[in-house]
Amino acid sequence: MRISGQLRMLVLTPVLALALAVLTHFVTSQPAFAEGGAVAQDARLAGDRERTRFIADLSKKVDVNVFALGNPYRVIVDAADVSFQMPDGIGNKQRGLVTAFRYGLFAPGKSRIVLDIGGPFLIDRSFVLGARDDQPARLVIDLVPTDEKTFLAKLREQRNETAESDMGSVPNATPPSNTEKPIVVLDPGHGGVDPGAKSANGVLEKEVVLAFAKRLRKKLEATGRYHVHMTRDDDTFLPLKERVKYAREKNAGLFISLHADYFPTEIDDARGATVFTLSEEASDEEAQALAAKENFSDAIAGVELPDDSDEVVTNILIDLAQRETNNRSVVMARSIVGELAAKGRLHTRQLRSAGFRVLKAPDVPSVLLELGFLSNEEDEKQLTSDVWRDRMASAISDAVDNYFKKRLARAPF
Ligand SMILES: [Zn+2]
Repeated sequence: MRISGQLRMLVLTPVLALALAVLTHFVTSQPAFAEGGAVAQDARLAGDRERTRFIADLSKKVDVNVFALGNPYRVIVDAADVSFQMPDGIGNKQRGLVTAFRYGLFAPGKSRIVLDIGGPFLIDRSFVLGARDDQPARLVIDLVPTDEKTFLAKLREQRNETAESDMGSVPNATPPSNTEKPIVVLDPGHGGVDPGAKSANGVLEKEVVLAFAKRLRKKLEATGRYHVHMTRDDDTFLPLKERVKYAREKNAGLFISLHADYFPTEIDDARGATVFTLSEEASDEEAQALAAKENFSDAIAGVELPDDSDEVVTNILIDLAQRETNNRSVVMARSIVGELAAKGRLHTRQLRSAGFRVLKAPDVPSVLLELGFLSNEEDEKQLTSDVWRDRMASAISDAVDNYFKKRLARAPF
């Protein structure tokens, strides 16, 4: 019944917002947000390559954690409970050392701003000023250029200061339940600070894949045959590793990662859906390029890519389990391709493989479905169409049925 709840919220929101706007107009100059929350209303860059200043206007003073990341060069600003009401396209501005910036939810209740920096740099100063006279509260970050060696030394220093990382927890993690119904985990790609691909009309991948995942969840639940979980069901970022971890902790029998790709149209007027499975060797260059793009999600959000050295050992241990899982993933992928061949249009080589990080759970059959291309106008229309979503969700739901029918017929595996 969550759907009707959401619908009700949608209807209520404008009324509520109006009431609050009227109220706050008379009572206080603070924006109408729940206690605790601050609103970032605007941001700008000042200075030049010798010293670049980033300023964000806030509805009130907040505590922030500001740190640097390398490869690519970024400044990360984390704060609790900040919502963003910035003017559209503001992050595309470039000045001095800053080439772009973005912002959004990073985890429930945790907000993040990411500044892309053109080269090695130092955070000279960062502070938050309280509101004064007619000036709002402000976050100020001053950046100066440096050489690569100094940058790396500072990075190491910073790492020692914050030895423990807060990336370890999975939101809403619950122990696997003793249930006979197979558990399906749906993974809408990107989210929060990472919008994913964007169409010429501004349609965001993170939004279409979330809307589709919700529809698919409804379809699967309606069969009464599955328990369905989603790695995210709001506009929150989740690192790739956490998505895999979530599927494993839920004891998923199947993991479906949902995306919508973008190709510059002058290169390839691609359209239709594509199903991917994991492989260290990409089936073709295009698949490899796509995996690199999707894997970059972590870097976009400012998650440090983990050191792979200890993963080598783990990889040997999980190799056998993974091989078997890969076979199952391919069976699932074929099942989707079969359904889509009948019900939706597929991209030329429908079943492909590449090194997607999000498909790396050794024991959970996993597929990645690119629903269509946001670079293609027809696809964009479909991806945002309720009728198409419903048809596509039915086709995937049927594919899931076929997959588990085959699995159960051949059990024990
Ligand atoms: Zn994607």
